[in-house]
Amino acid sequence: MEIRDFSIGGDATIRSAMEVLNKTLMGIGFVVDGDGKLTGTVTDGDIRRALLKGHTISDEVGVAMNRNFVSLPMATSNVDILKVLSDKVKVIPLVSESGVLKDYASIRKIRRISVAAPSLGGNELAYVTDCIRTNWISSQGKYVREFEAKFSEYHDGYKALAVSNGTVALHLALVALGIGEGDEVIVPDLTFAASINAILYTGATPVLADVDADSWNIDPEVIERLITPRTKAIMPVHLYGQPCDMQPIIEIAGAHNLLIVEDAAEALGSLYQSRPVGTFGDVATFSFFGNKTITTGEGGMVIFRDEAAYERAAVLRDHGMSKTKRYWHNEVGFNYRLTNLQAAIGVAQMERMDEFVDAKRRIAGLYNEELTKSAHFVLPLGEEVGSKNSYWLYTFLVKADSPFSRDELIAFLAANGIESRPVFYPLHEMPPYTQYGKASELSRSIAISKTGISLPSSPILEKEEVKFICERILYYAAHYKNS
Ligand SMILES: *Cc1c(COP(=O)(O)O)cnc(C)c1O
Repeated sequence: MEIRDFSIGGDATIRSAMEVLNKTLMGIGFVVDGDGKLTGTVTDGDIRRALLKGHTISDEVGVAMNRNFVSLPMATSNVDILKVLSDKVKVIPLVSESGVLKDYASIRKIRRISVAAPSLGGNELAYVTDCIRTNWISSQGKYVREFEAKFSEYHDGYKALAVSNGTVALHLALVALGIGEGDEVIVPDLTFAASINAILYTGATPVLADVDADSWNIDPEVIERLITPRTKAIMPVHLYGQPCDMQPIIEIAGAHNLLIVEDAAEALGSLYQSRPVGTFGDVATFSFFGNKTITTGEGGMVIFRDEAAYERAAVLRDHGMSKTKRYWHNEVGFNYRLTNLQAAIGVAQMERMDEFVDAKRRIAGLYNEELTKSAHFVLPLGEEVGSKNSYWLYTFLVKADSPFSRDELIAFLAANGIESRPVFYPLHEMPPYTQYGKASELSRSIAISKTGISLPSSPILEKEEVKFICERILYYAAHYKNS
C-alpha cells in the first residue's frame, strides 16, 4: 500500500473519501491541500458521525474530517513510532518539515522485529576488505588461524578447527573420535535436526533421550537407562544457550567408558561450573549460521580436548590428505574448510562476543521481569551458581492450561510485526527419525515442543522494542477471548 492510496484531496466529497477507505481497508484516510500538506484525517467513525448529523455523501470531506490528528516527522525511528502506535492509533501519517504528507507507519509497516538479526557493525567490513585487497579469499590465510586461536583461547586451550558449518562440525567431530557403524550415540529428542543427522551420516545409530522438564536439556537419568553394550557416545545439546547439567553426564560417561560430544551450537558464551560449555567433553562443536550468537554467514568450529583427535580431524577436514606427503590420501576425508573471508567476519565477531552475550542476557532479564506478570507462562530455568545462560534465543512455555495456545500467540505477534518461533519438533515425530525413539518415553520433549516459543533475542534489539514485545504479549494474555 502506497501513501497516495491513503490520500484524499481537500475538495473531495465524503463519497470519494469512503472510496479511499474502502480501498485501503485500514479505516483511515489522509486529507491533503493543494500543496500536499496534511490538513486532517478521516476515519470510518468520522464519516458515520457526519452522516448521522445530517450531512450527505455529496458534501465536502471537510465536514467530516478530524483536524486534531496525530502525525510524526518522516525521520522518526521505529522505536518512537512504536510508542505512539496503540489500539486506538493504528496508522500514523508521516510528514516532512513543511507538513507535506510523505508516508505512513502502521504496526505491519514498521521494521519487522526478527528473532535473531546479526550485528555486523564492528571490524567485519574492514577485515573482509583486507582479505579482498590482499587476495586471500579462500581457505588459506591469516584470519582462519586467528579465528581458531581466539576460539581456542576462550575455550581453555582446547584445540580449535574452523569448518564450513555447524553440521559438518558435528560430523567431523564424530568421525575423528572413531564413531561409525555399529555404534550408538545418545542424543536428546528435542534439538535441531543437525544433531541427529550428523550421527546418521557416520552410519552410527542415534538413540533419542527425553529431556528434563525444567532445563529442556537431555536428562542424565534417562541417559543411564538407554545405555547398551553398543553405546559409544553421549551428545548433550545446550539448548537455546541453557547449559546442560554436565556433572552427572561426565560421571555416567566415566562409569561406562563413553565419549562426550557437546553440541554447543546454541551456547557460545554459556558457562557451567564457571567454565565455558564445550570444555566438558572430548569434543564440542559450534555453529556460526546467521542467527547464531556470532556469525560468519555459514560456519562452524570443532574444539578438541585430545591433541591426537584434533590432528586426525585436521587431516579429515582437508580431504584426508597427508600432512607430510601432498596429494597422498590415507583415508577418505572431506572438504569442510572455512574460507578466510568468513573467518575474517568471525574474528571481528569474536572481538564483540562478550558484548553480544551481555546484551542477550540483559534482554532476557527484561523479558523475565515482564512476562512473570502473567500466570500463563513458564519462564526459563534460573541459573545455578557458576552457570551462565547465554540466552541464544529467549524461550518460554505457554502453560498447557492457558486459555490460548502457543500457536495463537505466535500468530498474534506476527500480526504485530514481531517474529517469534516455535520450539523444535520432537525428532522422533519426523519421518527420517521415527525408529530412534518411542513417543511414550519422550513425553517431556513432546510437551515442551508443543508449548515453547522463542522471542526476538538479537543484540541489536533496543530496550523499547523488548518492552513493546512484552506489552503486546501481556496485552494478549490479559484480553484473550475464546471466539
Ligand atoms: C545451528 C545448530 C547446528 C548447526 O547448524 P548449521 O546451520 O549447520 O551451522 C547444530 N546443532 C544445533 C542444536 C543447532 O542449533
